[in-house]
Amino acid sequence: MKIAVASGKGGTGKSMVAANLAFTLSQSEPVTLVDCDVEEPNLHLFFPVSATSTDVTVPVPVIDEKACNRCGKCGEFCQYGALTVLESRVLFFSELCHSCGGCTLVCPNDAIHEEPKRIGTISISAPQPGLKLISGTLDTGSPHAVPVIRAVKKQAAEDPVVILDTAPGTSCPVVEALDGCDACILVTESTPFGLHDLQLAVDVAARLGIPVGIVINRSDGKDKETLRFCIDHDLDILMTIPFSREIAAIQSRGDLLCRARPEWQKDFCALFTKCRSLAGVDE
Ligand code: SF4
Ligand code: SF4
Repeated sequence: MKIAVASGKGGTGKSMVAANLAFTLSQSEPVTLVDCDVEEPNLHLFFPVSATSTDVTVPVPVIDEKACNRCGKCGEFCQYGALTVLESRVLFFSELCHSCGGCTLVCPNDAIHEEPKRIGTISISAPQPGLKLISGTLDTGSPHAVPVIRAVKKQAAEDPVVILDTAPGTSCPVVEALDGCDACILVTESTPFGLHDLQLAVDVAARLGIPVGIVINRSDGKDKETLRFCIDHDLDILMTIPFSREIAAIQSRGDLLCRARPEWQKDFCALFTKCRSLAGVDE
């Protein structure tokens, strides 16, 4: 079962919910926590243990200038503008390349071959019995988050219970992380920005056909508009976490709510049960 933890707006506490959910579940069954927020992974901060890292690479074209007669076919084919054929040479802009492999296929002179280019890393650790943490990290300056997310998801493909922490927002990296999930927890806060971005996130999940439930974080008890939106869109409130100085202090020192205050574990167990129900998984 794969549960995504997402949010339209950044800073709502999405990673905190994912980490506490995985921590709690791992007390009773094997859980894999996947950090798909590859531009700014942070789950390892909650679980500071050593990890093994491997590179994520994508194939990029390399032009053999001696075999190339500047026919122009590769430049015409590339829809991303990554190849420009000049009279004297072919220019390749690697940051625009999507590694589709098409230019290699259309070159009539076998003047293009592919070589791997590193775009990020995957780190895998076992912070405690029952818990596996897989984090993707995009290299600074690399524009291609999606292949790194695909690579981290692949590492967890066969695992029985997977919690995926997505990037904030509703862009391609979020869609890639959500794809194939059985349920999605959307973490929000009761502010106008929070509600606006929640609406966008609900729309994306609906288009992907993923059932959604809501967690309201840092609630000050004045959640009327968020509750109204959820009623109007037939969305369950899975959990409400209060605005609390104590919770903020626990997080600011890099600790987990469920580790520092174990009484919260029953709430996160209940959250998981509701996610199973959302996903249509029988008890
Ligand atoms: S398609 Fe091949 S031969 Fe033609 S310009 Fe591109 S690399 Fe050169
Ligand atoms: S691999 Fe695809 S995207 Fe990259 S340069 Fe070739 S045609 Fe363009």
